[in-house]
Amino acid sequence: MGLAHFKVNEIFFSLQGEGSRAGRPCLFIRLTGCPLRCTYCDTAYAFVAGEFMTLEEILTEVQKRLGPPGRGPNAPFVELTGGEPLACSDAPALLRALMGLGYEVALETAGSHDLSPVPREVVKIVDRKTPGSGESARWLESNLTHLVPGQDELKFVLTDAADYAWSRAWCAERSLFDRFDILFSPVWGQLDLRWLAERIIADQLPVRYQLQLHKMVWGPEQTGV
Ligand code: SF4
Repeated sequence: MGLAHFKVNEIFFSLQGEGSRAGRPCLFIRLTGCPLRCTYCDTAYAFVAGEFMTLEEILTEVQKRLGPPGRGPNAPFVELTGGEPLACSDAPALLRALMGLGYEVALETAGSHDLSPVPREVVKIVDRKTPGSGESARWLESNLTHLVPGQDELKFVLTDAADYAWSRAWCAERSLFDRFDILFSPVWGQLDLRWLAERIIADQLPVRYQLQLHKMVWGPEQTGV
């Protein structure tokens, strides 16, 4: 693995803006590149721009920024994101190495790449693309078998009412509500926040409603947060 190179768009320390870890301090490693083109993509700046780093350089940078692994429920953790981090074939090795340093490690992915090489203990936040994203057909159904109940999360970014109905039915057909932390999130500036909240309440849907914290704090255009 000493020769592995990763194209890194940015490494930054911030607060996790999404998912069940929203609000927690987090070091993000954003890899360059994504084969998808979601209609609402907010990280198109990560499609090509980046610098090459070796595995060792990334690990050194992580240790420099975070120090030794912290304790407690809100200790800083590391998240590998993108782009689509699994588009890089060495990403599972990077995840393994980060775990080997003793950090809590999370992965944000669109579920269009095989999850089987990803270490089981890595917290996987898998974005199940809806029809409104334009990329729902890229989903690998076999990835469901690699998700760890009670640990991993399935996220639905919803563009409209049709996406809501589709996502609800998709989860129900597979009995996913009982097994996974299901996250429903509105596309920023597109789906009305209150409409989605009231819809979930009216349906008593067992999902976690979530907003992108970093967009509320820093505004939708700010990168590196
Ligand atoms: S998967 Fe993520 S980075 Fe890739 S196009 Fe979709 S929103 Fe953008």
